[in-house]
Amino acid sequence: MGLNSVKAFFANLALDVPILETEANTATVALAAAAHGVEPGRIAKTLAFQLADGRQVLLVARGDARIDNSKFKTALGKGKMLATDVVAEITGHPVGGVCPFGLAHPLPIYLDVSLKAYGEVLPAAGSVNSAVRISVDLLAQVTQGLWVDVCQAASPNPVAPLAQRAAAIEAALQDHGLPASAGIAQGVHNAEAVWLPERGAQVVAKAWTDAAYRARLLANGKAAVAELGIELPAHHRHLVVLENTASLHNVICCTLCSCTAYTVIGLPPDWYKDLAYRARIVRESRTVLREMGLDLPSDMELRVWDTTADTRYMVLPHRPAHTQEWSPAELARIVTKDAMIGVARL
Ligand code: FE
Repeated sequence: MGLNSVKAFFANLALDVPILETEANTATVALAAAAHGVEPGRIAKTLAFQLADGRQVLLVARGDARIDNSKFKTALGKGKMLATDVVAEITGHPVGGVCPFGLAHPLPIYLDVSLKAYGEVLPAAGSVNSAVRISVDLLAQVTQGLWVDVCQAASPNPVAPLAQRAAAIEAALQDHGLPASAGIAQGVHNAEAVWLPERGAQVVAKAWTDAAYRARLLANGKAAVAELGIELPAHHRHLVVLENTASLHNVICCTLCSCTAYTVIGLPPDWYKDLAYRARIVRESRTVLREMGLDLPSDMELRVWDTTADTRYMVLPHRPAHTQEWSPAELARIVTKDAMIGVARL
């Protein structure tokens, strides 16, 4: 069953079709597309349905296609997707490796016309880390699949790569007499030379060594950082400073996107913007922090703060005991962006 039956299937047909096995898990369209370096549409996904006429059938469609219920009903009648354990049983393939080859039981196979956008596609090959690279014509031939049109039409305007979109916006601004190059240069300069975590480190060092400043910082972060010449954009209406102690730890995120007090602690790291961090730091905070190298004692209180457009946060790290004699400049040198986000302690 699984991968071996798919290999046997192609061997029996005396077809030399490449079966690609990867280290990476390819159980979803997104994972498979990343592992094989292709666009998601090229991953041919195999779905299993129970039809109203009693038949269990497989449908192969391009990875980014979505079923159009009304087209499905016209072509195949009413149908509902089969439960994953049933799919595994009737195909002999594990969930995430289901494909129309080497099936445990013969099943009618339908191919959605969405696949025809490609010459070659990559269906799974009976395991969660394998795929077959096969031409659409050969796929139709070896599966004896019947062509149907049951998916929503692909977007006529696929999204261009980021650099191309940025260039298009710049060109459009230029065309309208709003040259963007100066603004872009300013943005790059700010990102590389102004919005640096060293600024936040200076704030932290002052708070550690000046009790009155620390009190002002905790009471009104925006006003207190302004004392050190650090401005926040107008739409950052509040800067809330969260003080870590020996028994309390704070960590920040932006569950919606990437918001940070970037003029103080620097631009957000890539992982901060990842969907996985944004979702998991809320749901399983201690686990995520442990994965990032911060294993908090179970009796330490942990607070997670979700940034909004107008309320920005920074963590005031807990000052390490061994730094009591240090100067502000020495202290500033040990303060990191991670510590001001709260994924590290010092
Ligand atoms: Fe955001």
